[in-house]
Amino acid sequence: MSSPTNRRADLSDKLRSLPSVDRVLSEPALSGALDRWRRSQVVAAVRAELDTARAALGNGGETTFTAPIVAELADRALGQRLRPSLRPVINATGVVIHTNLGRAPVSEAAARAMSEAASGYSNLEFNLGQGNRGSRANHLEPLLQAVTGAEAGVAVNNNAAALYISMAAHCAADAQRTEVIVSRGQAVEIGGGFRIPDVLRDAGAKLVEVGTTNRTRAADYAAAVTERTAAILRVHSSNFRIVGFTEEPSARELRAVADEAGIMLIDDVGSGCLLDTRDFGLAYEPRPQDSIEAGADLVLFSGDKLLGGPQAGLIVGRRDSVDQLRSHPLMRVLRPDKAAVAGLAATLSHYLAGDAVETVPVWRMIAADPEELRQRAEAWRSEVGAGQVQPAHSAIGGGSLPAETRPTFVWSLEHPHPTDAARQLRDRVTPIVARVEHGRLILDPRTVLPGEDDEVIAALKELVGGAA
Ligand SMILES: *Cc1c(COP(=O)(O)O)cnc(C)c1O
Repeated sequence: MSSPTNRRADLSDKLRSLPSVDRVLSEPALSGALDRWRRSQVVAAVRAELDTARAALGNGGETTFTAPIVAELADRALGQRLRPSLRPVINATGVVIHTNLGRAPVSEAAARAMSEAASGYSNLEFNLGQGNRGSRANHLEPLLQAVTGAEAGVAVNNNAAALYISMAAHCAADAQRTEVIVSRGQAVEIGGGFRIPDVLRDAGAKLVEVGTTNRTRAADYAAAVTERTAAILRVHSSNFRIVGFTEEPSARELRAVADEAGIMLIDDVGSGCLLDTRDFGLAYEPRPQDSIEAGADLVLFSGDKLLGGPQAGLIVGRRDSVDQLRSHPLMRVLRPDKAAVAGLAATLSHYLAGDAVETVPVWRMIAADPEELRQRAEAWRSEVGAGQVQPAHSAIGGGSLPAETRPTFVWSLEHPHPTDAARQLRDRVTPIVARVEHGRLILDPRTVLPGEDDEVIAALKELVGGAA
């Protein structure tokens, strides 16, 4: 029988047997950590593990906390806490613009330009000719003019910021004119809780909804105009599609309504698609240059969706409308950093050179020939010695072209525990993100970058070998 007194004596023995901090620090398991991190960080981690051990023993835990065990625990905790948690992954999902996986990978030229801008000084806001202050907005404007045909252009942090500053500068600055007319079918949530009605309200504009969810006519907009109306806002329904009995007026029709009323037309086209998606067997995706041609005062789009560049919001349109944004106090809050400016310039240059389909990764992936994808999936299968090659569909993703897919060929494996297999692929030093469908593990070569095939093959070999 163990009396309370015995148990207390037992506990104090156990606590006394815990190793000292110095004893744990001398364990080989921590030599790597001591090389890599400041000693004080390692000491703190060891102390934290010893505290946890003391608490566990106090609660009647029976574990033996030897110096090697505590060192091991401290090393693992340090790794989890201090190692950069953002790291490269291989996207084998087949979703080209995968928002959770960082959206668009940029071109080699854009990555180089971003790295150069980040690692050295640049003329970001310096006029080299005159040796005095310049403007960061000037680096992108000529390129934005050239690709979209607009009079003026400017970049901000992302497209959400583009919409926010456009509303704040043009639909909230004059307290007498804050109403913004939006079709009921377009007062949508873009994703991540970004809702058009909330953005307008927060920016100080007043949403006036017109029409119905599925049908809105130009006359509905015209009837909603008052002396308090600032603008018509059109928002591309990027991540969903209403099919069937639907109607939305074109930008040109809305331009006519706006002209009649003397108000602005602001067009959020979303994905920043500069190429004609119909050439790739996809539905038409609104292009900024088409909206400019139709007469929109401001056209807004993302830099890292179908444009295929770094995160940014691009705003193009009339000179006076863009200049009003440039001089708004929020511009300083929302401006892009130098790496984004450099990456955007390099990305836009691909479109001006006419080689975007070859150089911009998202377009290279969208354009990839199914036969070439079949050959890659076959090569994986023959190297791995398992799995099947099957026809499937890749999605475009990123809130663009909803329900649109491209035919592909995937490597697929029937597996008793496919979600465990997918997890094993994600647990690698370079995680691989795959799909699980109908009890099968599926990897789509379309979104696996060419240099990543060897890593995928090695991972699948290990997976198949481990399961055997
Ligand atoms: C994606 C999207 C946004 C938000 O763009 P971010 O660059 O993610 O901020 C806004 N409007 C539309 C229509 C979009 O598709």
